[in-house]
Amino acid sequence: LRGVVALDGPSGTGKTTVARKLAQRLSAGYLDTGAMYRVVTLAVLRAGTDPADAGAVTEVARGAEFTIGTDPGRPSVALGGEDVSAEIRGADITHAVSPVSAVPQVRELLVARQRRIIDEVLAEVGGIVVEGRDIGTVVAPDAPLKVYLTASPEIRAARRSAQDTAAGRESSHADARASVDRRDRLDSSRAASPLRAAEDAVHLDTSELEIDQVLVALCELAGH
Ligand code: C5P
Repeated sequence: LRGVVALDGPSGTGKTTVARKLAQRLSAGYLDTGAMYRVVTLAVLRAGTDPADAGAVTEVARGAEFTIGTDPGRPSVALGGEDVSAEIRGADITHAVSPVSAVPQVRELLVARQRRIIDEVLAEVGGIVVEGRDIGTVVAPDAPLKVYLTASPEIRAARRSAQDTAAGRESSHADARASVDRRDRLDSSRAASPLRAAEDAVHLDTSELEIDQVLVALCELAGH
């Protein structure tokens, strides 16, 4: 793969799983931008900062020393040298991440960092799959391939709940549905880079598809 594949869409569309598999299939790098908003949110909660206090959140985001891996075979996120890959998927982070990612200064900081990482990986391996909410619209508007993944809210909640259970976190379908609905609402209604498809994105509804079928569709779109 040469260049950037931008994969956007709400949670529960299978984005993370297919993004990693696609990157492996294409021998490309992989960047999970949601993990970056999550690790900043973890720093905010650890600092005892109110996620709704934009000024204080910006300060924490500026000072947070985190790293994120770009190898699709072993994604890793660390905060101050500590591996927090599992912790950033917890319910308290998922709850607080939307207000944190709605802060324009936080987005500015993370988008700049994302662009640097993308440039580094492009220089090193030539291609990268980047997943998030604003990759095709803001982070990499020149990406030659942009895909917007969707699925019905019902299916997305079921997938989220199954993922939580598999990771050993407590989860009911009703909770997952409420959480998915809440995040959709917050992520799509914020003023700064709201979740939306780029005009030139290919839309792919994954409701009726298994992960491997999504992967086949994406490989075809990427010309492989
Ligand atoms: O993809 P994931 O569910 O890990 O993303 C967590 C949250 O991070 C999203 O709900 C959204 O609020 C935020 N996010 C964002 N922009 C991105 C990626 C994630 O605002 N590019």
